[in-house]
Amino acid sequence: MVVDWQTLGEETAARVAPAWLKVDQLVLANTARVLAAFRECRVAEFHFHGSTGYGYGDEGRRTLEAVFARIFEAERALVHPSIVSGTHALAVALLGLLTPGDELLSPFGAPYDTMEGIIGEQGGPPGSLASLGVSYRQVDPRPDGNPDWPAIEGAVNARTSVVLLQRSGGYSDRPPLNLASLGELIGALRRHKSQLIFVVDNCYGEFVETAEPLVVGADLVAGSLIKNPGGGLAPTGGYVAGRADLVERVAARLTAPGLGGAVGPYPPGWRLHFQGLFQAPHAVGEALKGAVFAAGMAQSLGLVSRPVWDAPRTDIIQALDLGRPELVRAFCRGLQGASPVDAHVVPEPGSLAGYGGPVIMAAGTFVQGASLELTCDAPFRPPYTVYLQGGLSSAHVRLAVREALEAVCELI
Ligand SMILES: *Cc1c(COP(=O)(O)O)cnc(C)c1O
Repeated sequence: MVVDWQTLGEETAARVAPAWLKVDQLVLANTARVLAAFRECRVAEFHFHGSTGYGYGDEGRRTLEAVFARIFEAERALVHPSIVSGTHALAVALLGLLTPGDELLSPFGAPYDTMEGIIGEQGGPPGSLASLGVSYRQVDPRPDGNPDWPAIEGAVNARTSVVLLQRSGGYSDRPPLNLASLGELIGALRRHKSQLIFVVDNCYGEFVETAEPLVVGADLVAGSLIKNPGGGLAPTGGYVAGRADLVERVAARLTAPGLGGAVGPYPPGWRLHFQGLFQAPHAVGEALKGAVFAAGMAQSLGLVSRPVWDAPRTDIIQALDLGRPELVRAFCRGLQGASPVDAHVVPEPGSLAGYGGPVIMAAGTFVQGASLELTCDAPFRPPYTVYLQGGLSSAHVRLAVREALEAVCELI
């Protein structure tokens, strides 16, 4: 397929300009929210110092948690460098809240791939919810993408105690759950059974709308600091935020009962966590502009984009249906080749802990695996969809997406 890439790039930028303007408004609103939290919590230079040993009395960590709590409108937040990923944050949340005999309900399809190991099945893996006697029930969305209300109400029983809702669509073709839809699901289920605890997997969702899921009734949110709220600068970590009593239970699971969130040393210091959080609305805005541009350009080439470029968004993921394994490989190689780090590396599908089948990924990032930096992943299986996310600079996303799509168009 022969394409005039220069013209296509310019035309795409002109066409998506109205969507970029909306992103600018979002960034302004969220930056105001973050700035207000920093001021109210009186963030000061000495909060950037690290701590050693137990990490008792670490004012940096305590203040970072206070800032998170304000931004997320949470009673309490746990922000820890020893939470290594989003999966880990969700694992400690679920393992901290569910007790033997309880049932976990996922009312809107399968959760993210890496949750499979946490949920487990009869016989393993060791330490999974299943191995502790916690059962799991799932209701899939209807084919039209809406919740299957009768099935959801039928799935709630005396043992159902925690409901897991995932804001982003993950590696599936189900639509993401925006705040309005989350609120509707939570409200309806709570009317059905008032004691339910709602946990939202907030990965990739932070700062994509002007509020976070606790505002629409969630009890706890969890996510990764090498995604949106780290702003591309936090070197590691994860967070859990929400009702104070629930955060306390999760903290006890993360460290030890009785110690909870009182400990947690971080010798390098917290400057990058604070700076990253402050930059996060802007960085998420750059990623969103990149996603909008990628969708616009892909649509011009006749590819199916989910969401389409001008649709409202609640996460930063841009899915592009390529349909054939060699096109997925070409896209990932093109994107990797346009990365600032490891551009010479050639991605191959391979297995990765927590993911069922082979996956191919492009990630030329400064922080290992950080996916608020420009990355793409694709489960190497039909329908051969690539999931593109991140980009700390929308200019970089434009350049890299063009190269990735060029590699694809050489084959079609
Ligand atoms: C990234 C992600 C996770 C967790 O992934 P990690 O790689 O462990 O951080 C969980 N759920 C969703 C929706 C995600 O996007």
